[in-house]
Amino acid sequence: MTATTFRNFIDGRFDAPSATFESLDPSTATAWATMPAATEADVDRAVEAADRALRSGAWAAMTATARGKLLVRLGDLVVANADRLAELETRDTGKIIRETRAQIAYVGDYYRYYGGLADKHEGTFVPIDKADMEVTIRPEPIGVVAAIVPWNSQLFLSAVKLGPALAAGCTVVLKASEDGPAPLLAFAELVHEAGFPAGTVNILTGFGHDCGHRMTSHPLVSRVAFTGGPSTARAIVRNTVANLAYTTLELGGKSPVVVFADADLDSAANAVVAGIFAATGQSCVAGSRLLIERSVKDEFLVRLKHKAEAIRIGDPQDPATEMGPLATSRQREWIENVVTQSLATGGRLITGGTRVEGKPDGFYYAPTIIEAPDQNLACVREELFGPVLSVIAFDTEVEALALANDTPFGLASGVFTTNLAKAHRMARGIHAGVVWINTYRAVSPLVPFGGYGLSGLGREGGMDAIRDYTRSKSVWIRTSDDPIPDPFVMR
Ligand code: NAD
Repeated sequence: MTATTFRNFIDGRFDAPSATFESLDPSTATAWATMPAATEADVDRAVEAADRALRSGAWAAMTATARGKLLVRLGDLVVANADRLAELETRDTGKIIRETRAQIAYVGDYYRYYGGLADKHEGTFVPIDKADMEVTIRPEPIGVVAAIVPWNSQLFLSAVKLGPALAAGCTVVLKASEDGPAPLLAFAELVHEAGFPAGTVNILTGFGHDCGHRMTSHPLVSRVAFTGGPSTARAIVRNTVANLAYTTLELGGKSPVVVFADADLDSAANAVVAGIFAATGQSCVAGSRLLIERSVKDEFLVRLKHKAEAIRIGDPQDPATEMGPLATSRQREWIENVVTQSLATGGRLITGGTRVEGKPDGFYYAPTIIEAPDQNLACVREELFGPVLSVIAFDTEVEALALANDTPFGLASGVFTTNLAKAHRMARGIHAGVVWINTYRAVSPLVPFGGYGLSGLGREGGMDAIRDYTRSKSVWIRTSDDPIPDPFVMR
């Protein structure tokens, strides 16, 4: 028996689901809620509702200013309901309550930011070289958006899609991850309360192979916005062969944090801890490769080991907890396999490498640090999505940059140095969408975010994100009253 039942939100209604599954609380490994498993037929209803809302009715007729006001109202509702949303996200994903509360507060800012931008995304008048013609370019909504998110930070990862999509006038079918969908299904109630017309935003959950596949290959979908892992991204790109939807991909990372000997080492150690152990390492921007200048390596590792071993691991609902469980047992098994393999092939364990003592239930894994002789170990190459830091020493700036870029990923990076010129050289040289200098894990709705290489395609956040949800229509107007001249010559 589970305590709570959630529903999909399709065409403005909360449907009784035709199929369900149980969701586990990762801190106790027990089922706590019943979730709807959206079928292909559910997806079809949602996409058709989104298509109707796009073409006719209140949403299609709404001005950009009015759309913006709805988004601002939604942002306000998110903040007003932050405690409930945070509690649900913590319960369903194991992410600690300190983090979910803080994150939801700025999720509200993302909706307000895109609400404000809705009527500032202007078209253009083109001064073409034809005296009897005028051309204007109208930015129009690209169409129905299929938005798919993973289980970590679902409210945030949805806001960076819904915000610009709705500001641009699109309609959306959003799929919550089957691992921990509660916060998004609860958020659907706020979409309803904010007053978005039926069909504008549809929120459902289900599995990738049927629900996700149907969403991303549906003939009425024109735009896919995906966040998740690279192998799923490849499946989604294959799905879009059916509808040729314009697709953006926010994927994983193996982000380097480069610490030079001249850095403020205590501050750098705190940032390294934040980068890899916050959110139990289940963050796309996790700073999972520490590149440390050899002359300070031993001293720095002593500090890091001390900080890692002092982390308070416990109940994610307790505000004093600093690290909670992993979200799924599957995730923990994957991490255990890679750590075992890495230690058997040359890795030196500094700390961790085990489950957490005294926590037999729940998917806990200890903060782990492994020193690697080079970058060939599995723990250095693979995105683990867990609290495992690989450490590699370097001697020169050139070597540090080469190591930082020796990865197929390129999402985030950090550089710690007090030398301004060196910081600029590193920022220029690193192949990643984000470079944090003397800080780590900072975000803002005003700043674009996205990857290089296997970390993805496209950018979320910032003003330009709206552009990715519009397409230009060129309108040509002939201003001459004279008859059209020679019909056989292109003008
Ligand atoms: P995942 O790729 O397994 O799943 C993500 C979503 O895709 C889920 O909702 C899933 O149901 C859906 N899906 C699975 N198969 C599908 C298919 N064939 N068609 C359509 N949809 C399908 O990712 P995960 O394990 O849930 O999350 C972890 C990954 O997400 C990591 O790689 C992490 O780095 C990445 N991530 C990236 C960012 C970013 O902004 N770059 C942010 C957070 C997480």
